[in-house]
Amino acid sequence: MICLMDMFNGSKRRIRPFIRLPKRLAAAALSFVLLLLFGCSAQTPEARRELFSMDTYMNLRAYGDNASEALDTAVREITKLDGLLSVTDPESEISALNSGEGGVHFLSEETFAILSSTLALSDELGDSFEITLRPVSEAWGFTTGEYRIPDETELASLLPLVDDGLVALDANERAVSLPAGVKLDLGAAAKGYAADTAADALTEAGVTSALLDLGSSTIRALGSKPDGSAWRVALRGPGGKSTAGVLELRDACISTSGGYERYFEGEDGEIYWHIIDPSTGRPAKNGAASVSVMTPDAFSGDVLSTALFVMGPDAAEEYYHLHGGFELIILMEDGSIRLTPGAEALFTPEGGADITVIGRD
Ligand code: AMP
Ligand code: MG
Repeated sequence: MICLMDMFNGSKRRIRPFIRLPKRLAAAALSFVLLLLFGCSAQTPEARRELFSMDTYMNLRAYGDNASEALDTAVREITKLDGLLSVTDPESEISALNSGEGGVHFLSEETFAILSSTLALSDELGDSFEITLRPVSEAWGFTTGEYRIPDETELASLLPLVDDGLVALDANERAVSLPAGVKLDLGAAAKGYAADTAADALTEAGVTSALLDLGSSTIRALGSKPDGSAWRVALRGPGGKSTAGVLELRDACISTSGGYERYFEGEDGEIYWHIIDPSTGRPAKNGAASVSVMTPDAFSGDVLSTALFVMGPDAAEEYYHLHGGFELIILMEDGSIRLTPGAEALFTPEGGADITVIGRD
C-alpha cells in the first residue's frame, strides 16, 4: 500500500492533468497502478505440512487461498493410503493378504484400484518389476532390518513365488486371489500413487501451485512457483550424499530409485541394496547409482524408475527409445551422468561430471 499512499499523499486539491492521455494509454496506466496496488498489498498465501508416512518424511507446500485446507485433505489421503498399503502395519489391507496362506481376499476400492493399476504396468515391464517380490525381500531382511545374505538354494526355492502373473484380480467382486506363499509389496509404487492422489485433492480445491515432496525420491510439482518460475529440485549424487545437480520442474514429477536408499554391507564387504532383480533374487547391480524419470504423473514414474534401475542403463536407454513419454537421468556409480535431451534442457549438473546425452552421442 505504501506506494499508492505516497502517490495520493492525502491531498484534496483537484489537479487537472495538463497532458490528456489517449484512452488506451490511460487504460494501460490504470492497469499499472492496479498492478502496483496488487504488488504492494497482496502476497500469495503459502501453506506447508510435514508428515512421516510410508516410512519416510514428506514435505508438502501449496499456494493460494485454499492451500491450507487443501493440504489437510492431501495429508488425510496420504495417511489413508499408508493405512491400506503398509507392509509393516499388521492392520493394513496388504498385510492381510500377506499371511502366506493365499486364497481369495476382498479389497477396498482404493486398494483394488492401486493393485490393478500396478499389475497393469508390471505386465508391460516384464521381468524387471514384480510386486510379488516380497518373499525374496524378506529373505534379505529388507522388510525387518535384520539383514542377511540368503544362499542360492534359498533364493531358488523362493523365486517361483515371484511372478505377478500369479495374482488374479476379479473387478466385479473387487477380489484378489493368491496362491499359498505369494506375498505382495507395493513399495515401488505407493508413494507415486499417493503423490497423484494428493495432487488431485489440491487441484479439486483450486490449487494451481504446489510442490509435493514424498520423501525426496517422489516429487510432484503442480504448476510452477507463484511467481511463474520453475520449481528447483536437487538430485542426490551417487551414494546419496552430495548433490548431483538441480532440476527445473513445472507440472511434472521426478521419481528416483537409488541403491543408497536402503542397503547393508555384508561380511564379504559387498554392498547389498533393496532394489532386487526378480530374475536372480539378488540386488540389481549394473553400474547405475540411481535412475530418475520425469513423467506427467508420479505413479507411472515411481514404477518406471524402479523397473529401469533393475534393467540397467543400457536396457533403460533402449526402453526409452522404444516407448518414450518420459525423460531419464541415470547417475552412474563412477560419477558420470547419462540423460535424455529433454532432461538435459532442465538439469544443471554440479561439479564436472562426465555427461552423455542419450541418442545424441
Ligand atoms: P523405489 O524406491 O520406488 O525404487 O522402491 C523400492 C522398493 O520397491 C523396495 O523397497 C521394495 O519394496 C520394492 N522393490 C524392489 N525391487 C523391486 C522390483 N524389482 N519390482 C518391484 N518392486 C521392487
Ligand atoms: Mg519406485
